[in-house]
Amino acid sequence: MTNSSAQPRIINRQEHGIQTRQVSANAIKVVERLQQGGHLAFIVGGSIRDLLLGQQPKDFDVATSATPEQVRELFRNARLIGRRFRLAHVRFGREIIEVATFRGGADEDSEHREIEEGGRVIRDNVFGSEAEDAKRRDFTVNALMYDPVSETIRDHVGGYEDVLARRLRLIGDPVTRYREDPVRLLRAVRFMVKLNLAVEPQTAGPMVSLAPLLSDIPPARLFDEILKLFLSGQAWPTYQALVRQALWEELFPGLFEDPSQPPPLVEQALQNTDQRVANGLPVTPGFLFAAFLWPRVKQRAQVLVEDGMPAVEALAEAGEEAIVFQARRVAIHRRFSGMAKEIWCLQPRFEKRQGKRVARLMNERRFRAAYDFLLLRVLEEPDLAELAEWWTEIQQVDGEERAQRVHAAAPGKRRRRRRPRKRKAAQ
Ligand code: ATP
Ligand code: MG
Repeated sequence: MTNSSAQPRIINRQEHGIQTRQVSANAIKVVERLQQGGHLAFIVGGSIRDLLLGQQPKDFDVATSATPEQVRELFRNARLIGRRFRLAHVRFGREIIEVATFRGGADEDSEHREIEEGGRVIRDNVFGSEAEDAKRRDFTVNALMYDPVSETIRDHVGGYEDVLARRLRLIGDPVTRYREDPVRLLRAVRFMVKLNLAVEPQTAGPMVSLAPLLSDIPPARLFDEILKLFLSGQAWPTYQALVRQALWEELFPGLFEDPSQPPPLVEQALQNTDQRVANGLPVTPGFLFAAFLWPRVKQRAQVLVEDGMPAVEALAEAGEEAIVFQARRVAIHRRFSGMAKEIWCLQPRFEKRQGKRVARLMNERRFRAAYDFLLLRVLEEPDLAELAEWWTEIQQVDGEERAQRVHAAAPGKRRRRRRPRKRKAAQ
């Protein structure tokens, strides 16, 4: 299948327009040193795609004919990482240039390749030629190789034309490539949304029917993909695309009655995330997980409360159940599931507006996230609007004014002059 002797199409500077100053000086240094050492070396993958599309690349990766050991010999600042496939990380201060040896393995007859029944490749750790390395990549736009010395792009797969046409196309036979690694289904959605690319019909065609293959992917790998999908500033369009491709239900099964019409709280949480990214504010998956799982948590907690369990305890238990269930599909890092639980369990405490409880709640580590969550809940529970308003205002006033408001909000507005000093917290 792989024709490793085929010559790539060479695109020169006049045509592609990439300026070397747009490229990491450190990545160029790495390529130059490798080439001087007698190896082939190019800048590859997402960075070249991004530059051609007028986007700022996140990082610059290098592919080379040098083995990891040869790379380490050339760079004192190189460290070898990875078990399955060894890579070199060359460090320049805060910037790390990832240097990978050309990989083969796109050849279906290769003796080094192990394929399980479903077609998923479980081992593809063999070195290959430049052309093989291009062809084992996922999408054509991700397979361009840039030589900063001659300032040319080397295209083995028709990726240059696809970039110009803003087209996302899998290299090779789409069904085979999705089966080899079903995470490519998610990557297709990510690139299509993030880069505003049209998915070429043959690449788009099998997506819905192959979506169930995601169940073979380890939850931890899915978690990594989910972060990239939802935290890059396009969470809401990404959500919609995942639903359209039947991928959402594979990742988060059974959460919403009709995923194409998610609860308003969920839609708003996704849009707020995008707004925050656009404004350069930090975003956390903990908040999104709290929103995704909330309908299930709320419903279950209600049942537990009706059975006599205190509200916070009920939310903790319902939350734990929901997280354990969800983690069978997508691992949720402890830090983030913990945050989701804190957000849920703080909710009933907003209803207690008397005395020291106000300050105590405001001092909670997750107060701000929990308050933002309360604002979202108003979309589904309009009765909470007054409460949310109160908490909005209380944060804007200080000392004395705050004390007065807290007093005015004493329980049931019964205006007690002398509240008993020691009230035991209900939960
Ligand atoms: P981003 O800008 O989001 O990082 P990227 O294209 O750089 O996008 P990476 O996940 O960093 O994506 O991967 C780097 C390169 O490795 C890709 O451009 C692609 O060529 C190749 N690659 C990554 N994942 C796969 C995969 N699942 N199958 C085949 N090739 C892949
Ligand atoms: Mg990358």
